[in-house]
Amino acid sequence: MDLSKFSSPFLIDDICKYLDSITTYNCAAKASVDIALHDLVGNIIGQPWWKMWGFDPEKTPCTTYTIGLADKPEVVNKTKELIEDPHGFKVIKVKLGMTEEADKMMIETIRSVTDLPINIDANQGWKDKHYALDMIHWLNERNVKMIEQPMPKLMLDETAWVRENSPLPIVADEACQRLTDIPHLKGAYDGFNIKLMKCTGLREAREMVSLGESIGMKMMIGCMSETSAAISAAAQLSPKMTWADIDGNLLISNDCYKGMQVIDGKITVYDKPGLGLEVVDNVWGDKKREIRNKESKSKY
Ligand code: MG
Repeated sequence: MDLSKFSSPFLIDDICKYLDSITTYNCAAKASVDIALHDLVGNIIGQPWWKMWGFDPEKTPCTTYTIGLADKPEVVNKTKELIEDPHGFKVIKVKLGMTEEADKMMIETIRSVTDLPINIDANQGWKDKHYALDMIHWLNERNVKMIEQPMPKLMLDETAWVRENSPLPIVADEACQRLTDIPHLKGAYDGFNIKLMKCTGLREAREMVSLGESIGMKMMIGCMSETSAAISAAAQLSPKMTWADIDGNLLISNDCYKGMQVIDGKITVYDKPGLGLEVVDNVWGDKKREIRNKESKSKY
């Protein structure tokens, strides 16, 4: 990789296309350069990206918070913790796609604690279209609002049949990684999930938003385990999203940044330049300081 041939950080399009041409893979590494460039350029211009794109910050959706697979008492505890969490989460995300018994236990246990709406991620776990549809009807009676990736990504025809008969919207996740995946999804899914670490960053994600809107598909913004730098980048696009699942920064202990906040469950972006980031003193910073101190002691 040789970025010295680019004379300005404003050449985001050329720089990102060059990076993408080096290899098909390493999308998260490409995203790291893309995110850094967007933050730098936004800071030079002095405006946040949601504003430069013309998006309304009032239209950001609520983000889900995930309750992972666990036994019954643990699910009860996790649900209670979520309800009392100061971020005020309004929608729960639950990952299913295990046995029917385990899937139904998860939902019934959560429902014994709260009626908050639930978004389901089946993680390609339902291999039979009739079973998938039966599960969706069962979930629909329990205040579930959407289903992410019900069937394996290659079972497009079966997914289209499920969607046609489903009372709930069906959203592509594993089936959607890059811009070029989107045309294949039309008809089989109501919407698709955008993850910056999979689509190489904000440059391509912004194009995915335009394509999604032009073909009438709804969108979701998702994440991996990420710092607030990546989460705040994703948040810039969130006014265009129907659904959001950007809780990755809340699940790590070495977040170096402060940016987008979740207030009353809602993604909140600020009128701060770039991605609206501040570097904060944190656990990771302390660890680095410890390492530095050790190094300096050993030297002298
Ligand atoms: Mg998923």
